[in-house]
Amino acid sequence: MSDKLALHGGNPAVSVPVLDHWQPPKEEMKRAVCELIDADFLSGSGTGLPKQFEEQFRQYVGAQYCLSVNHGSTALASAFFAVKVGPGDEFITPTLGYIGTYGGALHMGARPVFCDIDPHTLLADPDDIEKRITPRTKAIVPIHLFGNVCEMDALRDISVRYGIPIIEDAAHAHGAEWDGVKVGNISDVTCFSLQGSPPYGKPICGGEGGLVTTNNREYYERMLVHCHLHRTGITEELTLPEYRELDSQVLGQKWRAHPLALAIAHVTMQSLDYRNAKRTEFRQKVFEALQGMPGIEPVCSYPKAKPAGFYTGHPLVYHPEQLHGLPAQRFVEALKAEGVPVSLYGRKLEHQKTIFRKGFDLWGRGRGPLGGEFLGLPPFEGYKDGDFPQAEKVAGNILHIRPIIEPAEGLVEQIARAFEKVITHHQELL
Ligand SMILES: *Cc1c(COP(=O)(O)O)cnc(C)c1O
Repeated sequence: MSDKLALHGGNPAVSVPVLDHWQPPKEEMKRAVCELIDADFLSGSGTGLPKQFEEQFRQYVGAQYCLSVNHGSTALASAFFAVKVGPGDEFITPTLGYIGTYGGALHMGARPVFCDIDPHTLLADPDDIEKRITPRTKAIVPIHLFGNVCEMDALRDISVRYGIPIIEDAAHAHGAEWDGVKVGNISDVTCFSLQGSPPYGKPICGGEGGLVTTNNREYYERMLVHCHLHRTGITEELTLPEYRELDSQVLGQKWRAHPLALAIAHVTMQSLDYRNAKRTEFRQKVFEALQGMPGIEPVCSYPKAKPAGFYTGHPLVYHPEQLHGLPAQRFVEALKAEGVPVSLYGRKLEHQKTIFRKGFDLWGRGRGPLGGEFLGLPPFEGYKDGDFPQAEKVAGNILHIRPIIEPAEGLVEQIARAFEKVITHHQELL
């Protein structure tokens, strides 16, 4: 085999197919949709398939309560409502994050306060979270980014000491565990997305949808009243005095999931454990093969974490300074030419978005959490470069290996050879 870089006309190092041999269960997905069409069940919640699916997921994570909603982001919005986040409050979430995590809280008048990350796991740094707590902090919102699990012992310890609830964004991490306990049964409220199509949508998916789990009766009832207008049986479910008096229209919002989406998600859930096991195996083999190569750092997991879901892919941190400053984009281009299923995670950090640099007049007339003084919040300062050194250092240098479930024989070895080849020849790419 020629040792010349594929980018420069050599033979690609990866010759086996990179296509996933695992196929989504499309026939079952179609059958599940058709059954609901035949049953005239195209709308509804708290009954039938939506209720069965909630019950199955609830049992899967081991939590006491589970509700389905129309999106992961609305699952999160209802979780913020559950823990009583409102106008003039703050919540803490990592800058290597996503606006869908907290957009709902922003529109409730709460202000995001970003925190830095642990650069080896890419997850919210508990010490930095603690430094950013103020008397206005009403929620801590970690994200199990790319399926890797946050340091939940440290986060729960902070939560207990300050009396601040945790809302976990587990949109990437269905089936993940901390210390043998499933994500969804660890802290106060956990939110999952069901967005996309298999196998590269959210780990359980049905186009659009979301799930929320909790062990707290009040949080559960608050989520019911927040956005489950006309859910079957809702008035019988409300037991707390404040909510029991409400009628079935509760507080007027209807964010329930489409039954067809849940029917598809329900089918994809049946293969979740299999896909997680296979992806974990592939990840471990690839990470082992790449460990110690200059310029490349496979992300690590905390000892009690069992990652799963793996939405987006298996992340590696690239260190350009170890390869004469070769830009990540060029490195990835060369790897792709070798046939490696790899991509660059090209998102901005949250604090670098214009609305958080400059502020934003959210509700017009000079009102809102990103404006001047607002319901007890100090004037919005605006973030700048340098505020989050760890996240800023890695942000442009996160690579993802496609989370293949059933790889072709020999793919891992060929991926490793491709990395070796590009690293060996990196000076030709400068
Ligand atoms: C997908 C996603 C969400 C929101 O889910 P939607 O179903 O798209 O609304 C929230 N957080 C993260 C990290 C996500 O990837």
